[in-house]
Amino acid sequence: MRTVVLALLLAAPFPLSAEPLPDQCDRQLPPPNVQVRATFAAPAMSFELSAREIKSLSGITLPGVSLGLTQVETRVDNRVSLSMLRSVVDGRACARPDIQLTIVLQRARVYVARELVGNDCAVAAVWHHELRHFAIHQETLNETAGEVERLMRSHYEDEILFGTEDEIRTQIAHDVQTRWMHEIDALRSRGDIEHELLDARDADSSATWCDGALLRLEARLARDAAE
Ligand SMILES: [Zn+2]
Repeated sequence: MRTVVLALLLAAPFPLSAEPLPDQCDRQLPPPNVQVRATFAAPAMSFELSAREIKSLSGITLPGVSLGLTQVETRVDNRVSLSMLRSVVDGRACARPDIQLTIVLQRARVYVARELVGNDCAVAAVWHHELRHFAIHQETLNETAGEVERLMRSHYEDEILFGTEDEIRTQIAHDVQTRWMHEIDALRSRGDIEHELLDARDADSSATWCDGALLRLEARLARDAAE
């Protein structure tokens, strides 16, 4: 994960006043801000793999034939700016953050079994099915971004961070890499059931696709694999 931390040094050192540090910080620092969004690369089709290779790549151990697979790669970028007040006396500072997280779906590769090349209807049927997997990934990541943003906003809402500038930066970076990454992973896994439901639905209906050509192809590949 790439981390960019910027410090925006607002104003001045603390005035020598009787007001306690937390109160000064609370009054003078602007409110925190958190934004989380997701971005998506367009899916690209590949005929690189055979049905057997697709099955082994997918990790499916059940019997049956795999004619398509959608693989996505993601990363999370973050950009943190701090609004700070710093004491000239002891270097202590307080801060509120502006955190921008981006869940980047940087690559989406749709594998269609190369045995299907030349059968336009079968290729289109598998491509269409895989695009629906891609749509589930998009929906899941958009929902994840929205939910993590909500959680982070409520976490940082009333929070003033104290310490030296380095300590504050380290603390936020640590929170992003542990707590918030964990939330992102947990929320993303909610999409798993949607992928399973899609496969179950299409397993039932695919027998009639392309006048049964897909089913015959699957049967032939299953026979070949058994030999
Ligand atoms: Zn599927």
